[in-house]
Amino acid sequence: MLCEWEMTMFDWMGRLAGGVWHAAMTRSLPLAMAGSALGAAVLMAGSVTPPLPAQEVAVETVLYRDAFVWTGAGFEQRDFAVAGERFVDPARVRADRVVTLDGQYVLPPFGEGHTHKFETEWTVQRFSPEMLRQGVFYARNPGAYAPNIARIRPLLATRDTVDVSFSMGGLTAPHGHPEGAYIEVMTQFWYSGFTREDFVGEAFHPVETRDEVEAAIARVQAQGADFVKIFLQNSDTHAERARLLADPDYRNARDYPDFDSIVGLDPALAAPAVQIAHARGLSVGAHVSNAADFRVAVEAGVDMILHMPGASWEPGYGLPSEVPAADVLALAAQRGIPVVATAAVRLNPEHQDVMDEVHHTVLAALHEAGVPIRIGIDNFGLTTRDEIDYQRAVGILDDLALIQAWIATGREIFPERAIGAIEPGFEASFLVLDADPLTDFSTLDRIVVRVKEGQVLELED
Ligand SMILES: [Zn+2]
Repeated sequence: MLCEWEMTMFDWMGRLAGGVWHAAMTRSLPLAMAGSALGAAVLMAGSVTPPLPAQEVAVETVLYRDAFVWTGAGFEQRDFAVAGERFVDPARVRADRVVTLDGQYVLPPFGEGHTHKFETEWTVQRFSPEMLRQGVFYARNPGAYAPNIARIRPLLATRDTVDVSFSMGGLTAPHGHPEGAYIEVMTQFWYSGFTREDFVGEAFHPVETRDEVEAAIARVQAQGADFVKIFLQNSDTHAERARLLADPDYRNARDYPDFDSIVGLDPALAAPAVQIAHARGLSVGAHVSNAADFRVAVEAGVDMILHMPGASWEPGYGLPSEVPAADVLALAAQRGIPVVATAAVRLNPEHQDVMDEVHHTVLAALHEAGVPIRIGIDNFGLTTRDEIDYQRAVGILDDLALIQAWIATGREIFPERAIGAIEPGFEASFLVLDADPLTDFSTLDRIVVRVKEGQVLELED
């Protein structure tokens, strides 16, 4: 269970991400704890011999028989084989060991496309096992305090932790999002005593000119960023918001998080940021709030969009402002720009019917246009599985499409790696389920075994 301190922190983090705890979601959290001990026992029951010690696994060849294996569009009954850390052609190996899976279902692990849960040693220890239990092996952190990431990289470099991709700090306007979140909220937790100056250039990068964009991207690259994050927020009213925020009296008087006072990067700098990042070999992910931001991001040529427009709907903002126009949806689909929906980032029970309508309408528009929808939660108090459950309730993607999206999310986090398929040459990472998730989704609550790069993960309860 969560300790009181954690509860307090998660409540704040929820607000930071924008959110109010959703009671039903909160109650469902312990479901994620469905255990690995049970899973290991079930696999063992189907094994001819017990797993070998780790050092021998690296060289042995294992043939898995009698499994239903993920094809990308469903499951087919076939054998598969693992040699060391990779899948190999089962027809061309001499197996050291044979494992019979007794008709169980095998599929690639999942991805978490938008989380800030990896920022300190404590959060790695707290959240990595939780994600692995849900079958989430790959995560993207679009925004973090760079010096801390340097400290946790070695922890995350091991096979038995989640693999995480980082942007370090994101590019925004002076006093733009997420400055308020760091100063007003994060200083109450692990950044106690920090001032704005401690965060600038480390947790976020306030920029107003092309030269400053160039310098900020050079800096995050030097800090080890895997991609660049830009913040777009209410781009249609950027100028007036930026003018208000330039006034210290206005800033001091505002009640953070006050949606009306939040601002992002000058939209005119989005395209230059993408050009500069691409020239340095870095992809770009955009935070967006509404349809105007979505247009700026798509037209600028970003590689991924890290919220659906309207994810954090606020009272007073009408639905039409959240739905991208047909021409920009078509461009996003043509460019194949994935949108990490984070639909459950900020559930608000007081206005849940309105939020559900916004999410339903926007997700339907994205899906019908052929824009790839991806999975992420961006909330410390909720899990990736909570996002899946919320999207199932919204009902735009069916269970097959959700599982495809969940696997694709992981594959896109590490595009240079061969992950996301049970095919020769790919990393031998997979989940074993006791039923077909396309007909019994609850099988994902009780993952039988998790294998990462050829090795069974042993998770403590
Ligand atoms: Zn975020």
